[in-house]
Amino acid sequence: MIIIDGSEGEGGGQVVRNSCALSLVTGQPFRIVNARGKREKPGLMRQHVTSIEAACRIGGADCEGLAVGASEFTFLPGKVAAGDYHFAVGTAGSTGLVLQTILVPLMLAEGPSRVVLEGGTHNMLAPPFDFIERTFLPIVNRMGPRVEARLVRHGFYPRGGGRIEVEITPAPLRRIDCLDRGAPLGLSGTARFAGLPFDIAQREIKVARKELGWAEDAFAVRQLPEDQGPGNILLLEAVFEHVTEIVSGFGQLGVPAERLAAKAAGRMQGYLESAAFAGPYLQDQLLLPFALAGGGVFTTVKPSQHSLTAADIIERFLEIRTVFTQRDDGSHLVTMGSG
Ligand code: ATP
Repeated sequence: MIIIDGSEGEGGGQVVRNSCALSLVTGQPFRIVNARGKREKPGLMRQHVTSIEAACRIGGADCEGLAVGASEFTFLPGKVAAGDYHFAVGTAGSTGLVLQTILVPLMLAEGPSRVVLEGGTHNMLAPPFDFIERTFLPIVNRMGPRVEARLVRHGFYPRGGGRIEVEITPAPLRRIDCLDRGAPLGLSGTARFAGLPFDIAQREIKVARKELGWAEDAFAVRQLPEDQGPGNILLLEAVFEHVTEIVSGFGQLGVPAERLAAKAAGRMQGYLESAAFAGPYLQDQLLLPFALAGGGVFTTVKPSQHSLTAADIIERFLEIRTVFTQRDDGSHLVTMGSG
């Protein structure tokens, strides 16, 4: 049995999700102690429990000690079964994080699956739907499986109520190298909002435009139906031949639209100035599919604590080592392989 101390490294929910996915794919049981040990309120939150329950459902797994607030549990994997699944994250918990737990095992299952997820679709500290659809999935699709995701309805914190649908056609994961972005193809920014004053979106666009210096017609405001709110997100998107980076500014009560937009613009500027393929969030999310492909190489910005921790967890389940090397241009090379 693999024993994982959930307070090591990044010490948050990602350790839990990656462990479940790796356990389902490798058939190795694990026990976590000190789950989310580095968080202010340690232990499993509702959204983590939903992710683990989803892993149990698709993988015929048993989980001992699973409860909101639990800091220890044991996960005993079964056999992953393709099929039609529906998971509702109570509250506005992130649908993207549930998907992060079950996607890779379903991509390697014996038949196609369809997954409906309900909850939050654009949550802080989680991949928003657009990032999953246009940043993460195109890379996974280059590795063999076919995954298509559709946003049916937005769900913002705290109300939730969003819905996404994902179709998964499995295939063995093929090793790919992602060193260069390729030619720039387009830059755009969209401020989406629902059930909030129009001027919030306008103020965000004004600041993002000034900070980034992009053309006026690169920006748009999109008003969503009132009942999908209240909520607001600023999405800044840079499309290259081989990768798309999406930086999000999540609207939050008490955070002025200008500040949110300036911060998002600064992060996009940082990515554009670097030569890296993967931005600060894509990097940790690529490690799991790359590891299950048997290795691969990609370039990224400074390695995040999430990436370093994900690499450690992967090593506990698979004979795959991840090496981070800084390059002369300031970007980092992430090399995964056996030995
Ligand atoms: P905890 O509450 O314990 O911090 P969590 O389960 O909410 O944990 P993390 O462990 O912090 O979440 O993992 C968050 C995941 O969401 C990571 O894979 C990270 O790359 C991704 N993520 C966070 N913010 C963004 C963003 N703005 N865009 C894309 N992905 C994001």
